[in-house]
Amino acid sequence: MVELTKAKDWSKHPLGDPCGWPSGLKTTLSMVLANRFPMFLWWGPELYCFYNDAYRPSLGNDGKHPAILGMPAKEAWSEIWPVIEPLIQQVLDGGGATWSEDQLIPIYRNGHMEDVYWTFSHSPVHDGSSTVAGVLVTCMESTHKVQMLNRIKESERQLHLMVQQAPVAVAIFKGPHHVVEIANQRALELWGRTAEQSMHRPIAHVMPELEQQGMLAVLDAVFHERQPFHATERAVDLHRASGPTTAYVNFSYEPLLDEGGRVNGVMAVGAEVTESVLARQRAEAGEKQFRILADSMPQFVWTADKAGHLDYFNRAVYEYSGLSEAELTNDGWLQIVNASERDANVERWLHSVSTGEPFLFEHRFRRHDGVERWQLSRAVPLHDDGNICMWVGTSTDIEDIKEQENEKDYFISMASHELRTPLATIKGYLHMLQQDHGSSEDSFLSETLVVMDGQVDRLNHLVGDMLDLSKMKAGSLDLVREPVVLNDLLHAVVDEMSVTNPEHIIQLCCEQEALVLADKHRIHQVVHNLLSNAVKYAPASRTIEVRSTVTEDAVTVAVRDHGIGIRPADQEKIFQRFFRVEGNNERTYPGFGIGLYIAADIVRRHHGQIGVTSALGEGSTFHFVLPLANAS
Ligand code: ADP
Repeated sequence: MVELTKAKDWSKHPLGDPCGWPSGLKTTLSMVLANRFPMFLWWGPELYCFYNDAYRPSLGNDGKHPAILGMPAKEAWSEIWPVIEPLIQQVLDGGGATWSEDQLIPIYRNGHMEDVYWTFSHSPVHDGSSTVAGVLVTCMESTHKVQMLNRIKESERQLHLMVQQAPVAVAIFKGPHHVVEIANQRALELWGRTAEQSMHRPIAHVMPELEQQGMLAVLDAVFHERQPFHATERAVDLHRASGPTTAYVNFSYEPLLDEGGRVNGVMAVGAEVTESVLARQRAEAGEKQFRILADSMPQFVWTADKAGHLDYFNRAVYEYSGLSEAELTNDGWLQIVNASERDANVERWLHSVSTGEPFLFEHRFRRHDGVERWQLSRAVPLHDDGNICMWVGTSTDIEDIKEQENEKDYFISMASHELRTPLATIKGYLHMLQQDHGSSEDSFLSETLVVMDGQVDRLNHLVGDMLDLSKMKAGSLDLVREPVVLNDLLHAVVDEMSVTNPEHIIQLCCEQEALVLADKHRIHQVVHNLLSNAVKYAPASRTIEVRSTVTEDAVTVAVRDHGIGIRPADQEKIFQRFFRVEGNNERTYPGFGIGLYIAADIVRRHHGQIGVTSALGEGSTFHFVLPLANAS
């Protein structure tokens, strides 16, 4: 700037050649130009501009430098004239020096207007007399400092926002009296206090209830001994606006250190977990109740997870098996199941677990003394949000029932065997009597013989069914399978039934030939049974239709009647042993409830299926499906 000031052509400037400049200007200017502190000088009534090298950077590039050297202030600083003119005027009017700190005075530099902050002083320069001939500006640009301060303020603001928006309660206690300096909304909610009640007050005043719970002593220890403190699900009694409450809180107290490493406060971070703690306590109480109940039952009670792993057994299981929990869990329970039933048991259980169907199974469990007893096990799935979450099962001792059943089966087997011989003898004698007296003029004699023959046939069927039942139970109902032309078989049964039931018209419709690999007598028995039922349960309607339909690999035989029909709830059960539809009909229609059971077993042994469609009062259609010979 010394060079520039010297080199400038002052001859045409109102100040004229520097040799003629007043001594005040010369002295002040040489001081300004030599100074390393940024300085600016306005001289004379027009306030011509001078500045030094240290001031030069404040003018930036592409700005006022060097054009404003010697320029009147009003022209040089036109953009900030309204700001600086009063300050200059104050000095010119003898008002003394001014002082401005970090003042925003935007100036044009670096090709645009910039926000520039200054700390500066305007001081008067006298020219040998008492009049003020110039104004000296000593200044420091403080833009960088102000920007730094602004940044710090902004990050403080961000930190404050973060604390306020944190998903947990955050509070900072300052000093040995734990004065609340920061407390976010969640902290205030947790305490049950407002910001007005809490801020800038010792926490002991804000929440006096903490004292007798030892919490203030904990805070003191953190502050004085620098030991962080953590608590999980701590019960804290609080005096909230809604009334006294016990809240469960997870929280931590951490000592806060100043730059010198001394503790100057404590930071508290916490979250209320009351709801989940209470929910768990309720669940635990429920589970305890369930265990008490289950342990008081003589039946075996057990539960399994959704994958089917048994994870709980009641006391009765441990007492019966003599095994420990470790021995029973992880599929260990299988060791008490009779070895011959284990595979079927596992298969049936896995089927239930994968389909969600209730589990029902009979198996023998070995007692601690080695004795095996029959059990009936049932399990049902429990759902949560539509998904299976666990299984609850029971096993009931059915040993005595089984024994009675066996005795009954034994009796049925013996009785039916014993009845067969006398029945065959009666049938034989009846046959001989019919030959001799069938066409007797004594109508009572001939008709009685026909009725007796029919009743003996019925008795024969019953005894036959009972025998089959015993064989099925013993697993000795053997099939003799051979190629059978099904339509011929159907014709034979229909003809036979038509003769014995002349009051019914049995229509047979066979669309196509069907060859099956079957036990002729057993399939005959199935069709005969379905037709006998159709006749028996449709006394008021005359027609019965029998139809066979052939598909690619199977043949379906359907027997349709227009009788009393079956309620949907009973339709599955009628294939069970001894099941008869309850009601008045039980007595109206004689029967045992085993015909369909045997028929279903025979069809299943032929790898077929049996079923019924029916509506109460509108008749029934029984059908069975058999695989064709070339498919089986
Ligand atoms: P039973 O006829 O000897 O009782 P079944 O095993 O043949 O035994 O039949 C079981 C039950 O199914 C019968 O008691 C009856 O209630 C019902 N049922 C069977 N067939 C028919 C039918 N065609 N119409 C109405 N109900 C029937």
